[in-house]
Order: sequence, then structure tokens, then C-alpha cells
Amino acid sequence: MAGIRGKDTKPELIIRRGLHALGFRYRLHARDVPGKPDLVFPRFQAVIMVNGCFWHRHDCHLFRMPSTRPEFWSAKIGRNVERDSLVQRQLAEAGWRKLVVWECALKGRTALGPETVVTKIAQWLPGTEAACEIRGTI
Ligand SMILES: [Zn+2]
Repeated sequence: MAGIRGKDTKPELIIRRGLHALGFRYRLHARDVPGKPDLVFPRFQAVIMVNGCFWHRHDCHLFRMPSTRPEFWSAKIGRNVERDSLVQRQLAEAGWRKLVVWECALKGRTALGPETVVTKIAQWLPGTEAACEIRGTI
């Protein structure tokens, strides 16, 4: 998913390293899965998206509409959010389970710490819960 710009953004790397260290194996940005998720775990029929809070209009302290060219940004981010819901439907129809890690869980004053995030993911992956979100503390 074109969320955070650039593929190897830091929060995603933290998650990848942590999961790999726990023995989880995954595919990166698989083109044949709706939304080209950041991480795909075929064995668990699960995907992980690492969402930038600004680009995906998260209701948290990391999102604030820019004061310059607000119409431009509002339209641009609105399209991202629309695409998110489309991808969500496509994933669900194809039987994928989905976990979203929000940037605020990994960065800034609400961060949970990488170990906590990785632990939560590691608990969710082998389970049956269809959807999950990990966000910063509120
Ligand atoms: Zn957030």
C-alpha cells in the first residue's frame, strides 16, 4: 500500500527485524495481494500494513491537516482513505486477515515500544481474529 512514502521506512524495519528474530517468515510488498501489503504471511493467510498517520488520516496526534494548501491535502489524503477501504474489502473477500500498525504505535510520545508491538503481532498472527489494529497509547 502506498502509505508511508518509500518502502523501507524505519517503523516497518523495526517490525520486520523483530518478527524475523522470532522466526516468522514473510513476503514483502507482494504484488499479487490486494493493496500490495508491506508484509504478507502466506502461512497465516495474514497481511500487515504499516500506516503513516498523516497519509491515512489517523485520529491521533500525528495527524494535522497542513495549513498551506489545505484543499490539496484534504483531497489527496481523502483518496488514500478511500483506497484503504477498497483494499480492506478486497482483502476480506480474498480471505486475508489484516493487521494495521499505525505509525503512532512506533513513533512519538504515544509509542508503545518496538518489543510491545512485535509481541502483539506475534500473538495475533497464529490466531483467527480477522482484523486488528495497533496504535499508540491514547
Ligand atoms: Zn496514529
